[in-house]
Amino acid sequence: MEDFSLDMRTLNFIMILFSVIYCIGLLLFQIAQKPIEGLTLFSFSIFLIGSGPFLLSFRGIIPDYLSIVSSNMLIVLGFHLTLYSLSIFRGYSTRFSQLSSILLLVVLACFIYFTYYDPSIRIRIVTISLFLAFVTLSTAFVTIKGKNEDLPLAVRMMALPFVAYSVFMAVRAVLAINEAEIADFMQAKLVHQLTFLFSIVLIVAMSFSMLWLINARLLRANEHLLHQDPLTKLQNRRALNDTIWHFQHKAQYAPVSIIMSDVDNFKSINDQYGHLVGDDVIQIVANTTQHKLSDSAAAFRLGGDEIMILIPSCTLIEAEVWANQLRQTLSGVTLATQPELQLTVSFGIALLSPTKNWQESVEKADKALYQSKRNGRNTVSIVA
Ligand code: GH3
Ligand code: MG
Repeated sequence: MEDFSLDMRTLNFIMILFSVIYCIGLLLFQIAQKPIEGLTLFSFSIFLIGSGPFLLSFRGIIPDYLSIVSSNMLIVLGFHLTLYSLSIFRGYSTRFSQLSSILLLVVLACFIYFTYYDPSIRIRIVTISLFLAFVTLSTAFVTIKGKNEDLPLAVRMMALPFVAYSVFMAVRAVLAINEAEIADFMQAKLVHQLTFLFSIVLIVAMSFSMLWLINARLLRANEHLLHQDPLTKLQNRRALNDTIWHFQHKAQYAPVSIIMSDVDNFKSINDQYGHLVGDDVIQIVANTTQHKLSDSAAAFRLGGDEIMILIPSCTLIEAEVWANQLRQTLSGVTLATQPELQLTVSFGIALLSPTKNWQESVEKADKALYQSKRNGRNTVSIVA
């Protein structure tokens, strides 16, 4: 182990390559897709983390303020931006970033002092290691605690390398405190060489996790669109197929009511006022219905002017009261563009069976709706 050593310049080179590739890749992704909050800064932060060590490898060739102070400040700024961008991306407050921007100035002051006034590579290493331990732990924290609904596994995949990096930096700081003064950073001990390796792993892991998180967000948005009716923004028939088991499960413990609603004489509204007005009518009925729903209930547009409502913990009688209230509200609704249009809606109610094929229960509610139509419309009927 004694003679085991890594070539820092090679690691440096690999690191800058990775950071440039991932930075450009993520920026292009950001340009090509619908912009994602925090992604541009995140991409630049990767570039900064990689470009700092690049300057470091020119130690002795370029002035110290570039090879020591600027290079380390680029790394520090890069990690600070990662924290800030992930706070935004994950929807967490930026209070940790504010603290880190103050610490950033402290690190700068330390680097100037321990480069020009009391030169010490060892203390500079302790300073930057402590800063990075704090910032990466904060990054893991905001990543986990952010309120945006992201795929939990991808969130953990993003946070974990930051925790590991933070632990490594804390260990490095402790080791550096206890070691003798370092004469040449490029010849420093294995733990300092490993810093480069860990940084490469971090850059790869955070870029991969970011792509995974973005991909999961796109899939989720797609899934949402797939289950949403574009005209009314209610859930559609596909959503009903996918969620009905959930209501059937609830029906084992308390009655779940199915309420079918259908606009009366909608064809003649279309014929008389045109399809666009017909669309407005469907939207108003959907919005009014949605407005009246409790959190546990759900409304689905099954097609045309027909909406199906599922209300858990609701008996037939309670559903009848609910539907009558909605019916009355809807019969008082007027369209701003067509104030003379008289809107009425009919309802049919049945209970959702927890055991039988759910389509049979829906047919019952349909039968009840048919009864309402036969009884002159603008009424509520029940089929027990
Ligand atoms: P009833 O009182 O018996 O329900 O009579 P109705 O005329 O309302 O008959 P029905 O419910 O069968 O009418 C559905 C009509 O809805 C048929 C179709 O032309 C129209 N429709 C279906 N989808 C849309 C839509 O997205 N927009 C508009 N404007 N009309 C639609
Ligand atoms: Mg109708």
